[in-house]
Amino acid sequence: MLKGSCCCGTIKFTLSSPPTMMGTCYCTRCRKVGATTFVFVKRDSFKLISGVDSISTYKPEAPYKYNRCFCTHCGTSLGEITSPEESFPVAANCFDNELKITNMFHEFVKEKPSWYGICDEAKQFIEHPHQ
Ligand SMILES: [Zn+2]
Ligand SMILES: [Zn+2]
Repeated sequence: MLKGSCCCGTIKFTLSSPPTMMGTCYCTRCRKVGATTFVFVKRDSFKLISGVDSISTYKPEAPYKYNRCFCTHCGTSLGEITSPEESFPVAANCFDNELKITNMFHEFVKEKPSWYGICDEAKQFIEHPHQ
């Protein structure tokens, strides 16, 4: 069982099956919220254990559409943990256990700042990966 939490520990969640994918996004939105590396999890394996009342959601204006969740108390970026989708991204930094997957791709490399160097062989995409 994988566990995750925010920095102050108010928000806690578990994951009953391992994430299916890990990716890193360099778009300005992901960078500014401090959640560039994420994993995709299945809705039925994700369980919020505590802190539901402390989840704040930032809803961006169009054309951006992804809602970003934070802890109201400590500001930890959590990913899209309130998403209604079957599969959604969770910030990899929130996990308390070692994740047994490694980064599988880099996206929005066109927005990557020059001070950040990519140090693995994972595939790079200018924007979202092509399906
Ligand atoms: Zn917190
Ligand atoms: Zn992004």
